[in-house]
Parts: sequence; C-alpha cells; structure tokens
Amino acid sequence: TNKRAYNFNAGPSALPLEVLERAQKELVNYNGTGMSIMEMSHRSKEYDEVHNNAINRLKKILSVPDNYDVLFLQGGASLQFTMVPMNFLTKDQTASYVLTGSWSEKAYKEAKLFGNAVVAASTKENGYRNIPKLDEIQFNENDAYVHITSNNTIYGTQWKQFPNTGNVPLVADMSSDIMSRPFDVSQFGIIYAGAQKNLGPSGVTIVIIRKDLIEKANTELPTMLKYKTHADKNSLYNTPPTFGIYMLGEVLRWVEEQGGLEAIQKRNEEKAKYIYDVIDESNGFYRGHAEPGSRSLMNITFRLADEELEKQFLAEAKAAGFVGLNGHRSVGGCRASTYNAVPVEACIALRDFMYEFQKKHQ
Ligand code: PMP
Repeated sequence: TNKRAYNFNAGPSALPLEVLERAQKELVNYNGTGMSIMEMSHRSKEYDEVHNNAINRLKKILSVPDNYDVLFLQGGASLQFTMVPMNFLTKDQTASYVLTGSWSEKAYKEAKLFGNAVVAASTKENGYRNIPKLDEIQFNENDAYVHITSNNTIYGTQWKQFPNTGNVPLVADMSSDIMSRPFDVSQFGIIYAGAQKNLGPSGVTIVIIRKDLIEKANTELPTMLKYKTHADKNSLYNTPPTFGIYMLGEVLRWVEEQGGLEAIQKRNEEKAKYIYDVIDESNGFYRGHAEPGSRSLMNITFRLADEELEKQFLAEAKAAGFVGLNGHRSVGGCRASTYNAVPVEACIALRDFMYEFQKKHQ
C-alpha cells in the first residue's frame, strides 16, 4: 500500500515525506544532468554545489561560529568514539567522561586505548534514569576534554542544560538529538553525530569542530583518521557519501521550511507530551524509565507490568501499524523515538492506541 507507517524507529528512522518525494523526483535526472546525483563525480560542479549547500545550511541553522569547521565523515558516531581520543588524548593526559548510558560507555572504552580516561560522573547505579546535576560533574582544569552524550537513545534521557567546562573543550555526541532544538555551538569544542536519526540516511557523520583544536591535534596518525585531513579538503579528501550528503542537504532545507529550530523544538515538545501524558496518567500501567526531569524529547522509554504484557503491547501495536516500538535489544521494554520527521499525527495515533490498550488490559 501507499500508506506511510507510523514509524517510531530509533535510527535509521523516519525521514520527512516531502524530502523523500523530492529525492524521488530528482533520482534519475538531477537538475537536467541526465543522471542521478549518485552517478556523478564528487568533483563535479553540480555535486560541489550540493556539498557546500549542505555545509552552509547546517552552519546557518545551528548558527555555527566562524571559528568552527563542519565536516562530513564516514564510520558513524562509533568511529568518533575513537577519533576524538586518537586526535586529542595523549598517554600522559586525562580525559573526563560523563556516563549516561551505553553509548557514553562505548566512547569511554575507546578513550582508554589512548590515554587516561576517567569517569566525571555516572548515573549507572540509578539504571541510567537521569542526567547528573551539573555540579556533580568532576573534571580537571588540565583535562584534554570532557565528553558527554547529549541524548541517550537507549535509556531515553536528555541533557537540558550543558556543563560549563571553562577552558577544557566540551565534546558532545549529539547523534540522537542534533537539530531537534536550538543550542549554543560555542559552548563546545567538538560536536559529532551520525546522520541517521534527525539528519538523513545513515552513512554520513557530522562533525562540528573548533579550528584551533584541529591545529592542536596529534599529528602521528593515519591520514584518514586526522580531522585536519578532512578540514583542509572541505571533506573532499576522498570520495564522500555523496547521496547521503545530498539527502542531508534536503533534510536541512526541510528544517528551514518548518521555521527552523525553535519551531522544530516546539513541535517535538508537543509530540513527546502526548506520549508522556498517557504514561503519567496511566496509574502505573505504563512506567516511564527516565526520571521526569531528565526525559528525552527524542526517545520515550517505558515498560508495562511484565514481559508478557509488553509482548502483547508490541504485537498489538505492530498489528495496528506502529513500527519500531520495541526497546533496544540490550534493555528490552518499549521505546517510541519521536525524531523531527515523525509527524504529530503519528504521536497522537500512538497516544490513542496506548490509551485504548490500557482500557482493554488493565
Ligand atoms: N551515539 C548515540 C547516542 C547513538 O544513538 C548511536 C546509534 N544509535 C551511536 C552513537 C552509534 O552510532 P553509529 O551507528 O552511527 O556508529
């Protein structure tokens, strides 16, 4: 059928229908060239425009200051777990990691390969239900950097405010909430994000990095793993994922058409509220995982009374046309990912479904 699914996938995830339709229209003949953007040289004039438009749109929407570079890399956010310490941590230095979920743990584990990585704060003992208070974060003035995960895709928590780390660069994995709300880029030394949640298809990784840091990075590294290689060549040192970058540019155009980040954030708040409200008004039938003060607007995690009921919930939801509501395989439970491109109507439909399911089964 032609009907779009109620897509709550955690990533890759929903893309705006308008973007998909436009890409479809341009797929076999981009801009009168007689070929797809996928079939074109990455050194062509047409691709160059697509590439630079995507960079410029991203800079404009996020108000990226002039002393930052925007890079399009490959290897996912997972390679950034490695590249950050590889470029910025040395054997005699310390980097501080705030652990707020499995992805921060993975980033921390990679850093230990390169130097002294230490835990600045962790909410693991609380089942990663919350983000630490800013004054609980311990770091050192001499740290190479402090690393955080702005949104925890698996546990469903999100930083509302970011720590002020003074002269120590703050590094953030923003894979699952970049472009979902306004924030001040200048608070960060490095921001990285896989594209496959709010930005486009998988295969592109966005890095926003302060230029002076690039110059200070370790030099004895493989060419492809140096930020400087990519910064010096405007992310065209080697063949970039051209189609993914084209799609990213189109998603950014869509963000602009929606009214930019303020409008997107407002809509994300509205969408998440529908679902958190059913949870909160369910008298414990649905149990939110995250503490209310740390709740994510992107990944809404909840459980039901027991696994049997959860199975039934997921099965009935699937039959009703909802996709992707199962929690991450490492934690189970349920999760609704309400990224930018998930329409309000899908969230209202899920709210109604959850309400009816409770009435039937409580
Ligand atoms: N960080 C976060 C917060 C994520 O959600 C994910 C993927 N879900 C990753 C890192 C890993 O990203 P990738 O698969 O692009 O390496």
